[in-house]
Amino acid sequence: MKLATRVGKVTPSLTLTISAKAKAMKGQGIDVCSFSAGEPDFDTPTHIKEAAKQALDQGKTKYGPAAGEPKLREAIAKKLYQDNHLNYAPENVMVTNGGKHSLFNLMLALIEPGDEVIIPAPYWLSYPEMVTLAGGTSVIVPTTPESDYKITPEQLEEAITPQTKLFVLNSPSNPTGTVYTPQEIAELAQVIVEHDLLVVSDEIYEKILYDGAEHKSIASFGDDIFQRSIISNGFAKSYSMTGWRIGYMAGPKELIKAMTTIQSHSTSNVCTFAQYGAIAALESSQECVEQMCRAFAERRQVMLERVNQINKLSCPVPNGAFYVYVDISQTGMTSLDFSDKLLESHQVALIPGIAFGNDTTVRLSYATDMATIEKGMDRIAEFMSSL
Ligand SMILES: *Cc1c(COP(=O)(O)O)cnc(C)c1O
Repeated sequence: MKLATRVGKVTPSLTLTISAKAKAMKGQGIDVCSFSAGEPDFDTPTHIKEAAKQALDQGKTKYGPAAGEPKLREAIAKKLYQDNHLNYAPENVMVTNGGKHSLFNLMLALIEPGDEVIIPAPYWLSYPEMVTLAGGTSVIVPTTPESDYKITPEQLEEAITPQTKLFVLNSPSNPTGTVYTPQEIAELAQVIVEHDLLVVSDEIYEKILYDGAEHKSIASFGDDIFQRSIISNGFAKSYSMTGWRIGYMAGPKELIKAMTTIQSHSTSNVCTFAQYGAIAALESSQECVEQMCRAFAERRQVMLERVNQINKLSCPVPNGAFYVYVDISQTGMTSLDFSDKLLESHQVALIPGIAFGNDTTVRLSYATDMATIEKGMDRIAEFMSSL
């Protein structure tokens, strides 16, 4: 069969592939410690599930508006005002099938052949693939552990060409856990405004912060940057709702309208009764989010201490998300080689950095129970001393 050329230009998600391999090993009865998860291990809070069940019982089972249930768009606009000091009307907001789908809609609506999109590496692995599927070109800017894997305003400026259309910012970051300070965000905003670019800010981990780190949306640094910003967010990480598939996007009306048209011809609306769960998530107490963050904070502490005790492994202190991003350059191994050998010989699954555009690192997720963290870190220590 002759497939469309665009298919040959992208590869399946490596994180999903490795998680699947670890799951298959577990299925065979092998005791695998998995640090590969890209999702919280907690169940969705009960009140959110109850709200969706109630919506089902009330017959919220039909097609709805492509841009989302009006009540949810309103609740999101209110959230963006209260949490992020962003003044969006519900018409500036659309509900999507997850943060991933938000970004996909955006690339389709904005990017075409000839356009360049600047993406700092390590990056969330779907960004460049989405740009490719839209026919655009990714300009990858490598960052280093010395700068906590943050792009500097100078690096951003150097990467800009007349073809640059969009900059992708992800803070807190997956895979590195890095959180940009408000000052650093302000400096990046200035470059974007000076060069009249657009920025998409992927804020899906905004609630998962440690050690007093602060999340400030880039769109909140004045009207010039607000006009040039698109916010991508969702319910998956903050409320442990990964399987629900609900995300959202906020930005200029013209763009939201274009993305809604695209969505109306692809997925139509997001699952109607699921949206009622999302409304409950936003309108109820946020204690469930804080509870989850407290658990993550304890695990992060343990994982960081353990990594730092192991010779030849190091990592910057991550202030957000639920990942520890470990430098393995002193082992001399490629990230894929390291991950494969570790899984084969010591049954620990993690994600090779090559998936995120950096081959001297691996990503460990602590979205798992403490016993697994202790056992898995013991095994990594044994693995390292066996090298
Ligand atoms: C998980 C994740 C998303 C979106 O996830 P959805 O499940 O599609 O809402 C977006 N960006 C990053 C960086 C993520 O880690």
